[in-house]
Amino acid sequence: MYIYADWAATAPMSQTAIHAMEDIMENVYGNPSSLHRIGQKAAEYLLQARMDAAEAIGADFKDIYFTSGGSEADNQALVSAAQFGKIRGKTQIISTTIEHHAILHTLNKLKKEGFEITLVDVEPNGIVDAKKIEDAISEKTALVTVMFANNEIGTIQPIREIGEICKKHQVVFHTDAVQAVGHVPINVKEMNIDMLSLSGHKFRGPKGVGILYANKKVPLTNIIEGGAQERGKRAGTENLAAIVGMVAALKETVTNLEERAQKTAALRDRLIQGLSTIEHSALNGDAKKRLPGNVNFCFEGIEGESLLLLLDHKNIAASSGSACTSGSLDPSHVLLAIGRPHEVAHGSLRLTFTEDLTEEDIDYMIKTTKEVVEYLRGMSPVWDELQKGELKHVI
Ligand SMILES: *Cc1c(COP(=O)(O)O)cnc(C)c1O
Repeated sequence: MYIYADWAATAPMSQTAIHAMEDIMENVYGNPSSLHRIGQKAAEYLLQARMDAAEAIGADFKDIYFTSGGSEADNQALVSAAQFGKIRGKTQIISTTIEHHAILHTLNKLKKEGFEITLVDVEPNGIVDAKKIEDAISEKTALVTVMFANNEIGTIQPIREIGEICKKHQVVFHTDAVQAVGHVPINVKEMNIDMLSLSGHKFRGPKGVGILYANKKVPLTNIIEGGAQERGKRAGTENLAAIVGMVAALKETVTNLEERAQKTAALRDRLIQGLSTIEHSALNGDAKKRLPGNVNFCFEGIEGESLLLLLDHKNIAASSGSACTSGSLDPSHVLLAIGRPHEVAHGSLRLTFTEDLTEEDIDYMIKTTKEVVEYLRGMSPVWDELQKGELKHVI
């Protein structure tokens, strides 16, 4: 038995997506830009994928752009909105302190180019107060970008509310929805979303492919120059197999979403309940307004990394913070943003999963985590000092 509980890092590919890709790789090798029948067959598949993707998020198919993943979609959305703002004298961008690095690092780049970046703090439950976003909006605001759901602590942001605020103030609104797709219903029109990023591999599609949804409010700026693919906005011969595989996974993941989310949330709540019985532990992020398959805890007196290695040894694949930051000694910016002190932010555990797990799997995860935390605390000098009262407990 091996429990894969790291879906927020990447998801195993669905059989439907694999078969859809195999079909393309074997039978549809044409270049969609070619005028002969072989090329036109590929172009038909590409159009169908675009229409299906649009339907899954309530968009117009002409507003779907295929990219190399979530990171590229985020980069292009932000750079485009910034560029468009600049020509109209709008140089402020509003975001939050808990965004993914694909957003934060792009904002840093734009800051160096002269944009004013306003990062709104989240509340201690890991959710941004929409009112604070509204308060930050000024005449100079070119863009508001707020992630749909956080990749570390799973908190779901008030996207509909922020969409309404942006519409009222006529400000462009982008959301990084990479973690939300397939877990939370998304409809770009109903939610007043102008731009949205998706990534295939987070919902059981292949890696290296994603979607940027962008309505006509913002003209897109090219990140990759070359041929006229994607209506001239994203050059490079389309990776048709990956696109078709991703869209097959997308269609699948938005089907029966509510029912699957309910099942997953019940498993999540059982896991939260079980891990809460570990002393000096704390759940990170709101207990309810979080992704159905996300559990994130801090344990005092231990290192997240050692916890992961021991859990792996016991056949549980987990994560500490985000995959991008583990391996570095920096504590997670998300945990710091919700007010966890440095020493505790190092001892975090993220378990992300879906409805395929059973209650027995959850109970095994609880039992094993308890044993491993106890074992690590037994050898931890920090825990020893905490026990002796030489250090003060913070959770
Ligand atoms: C994974 C992730 C990304 C990056 O997507 P890639 O397809 O891996 O480039 C961006 N934002 C969030 C919230 C993510 O979880």
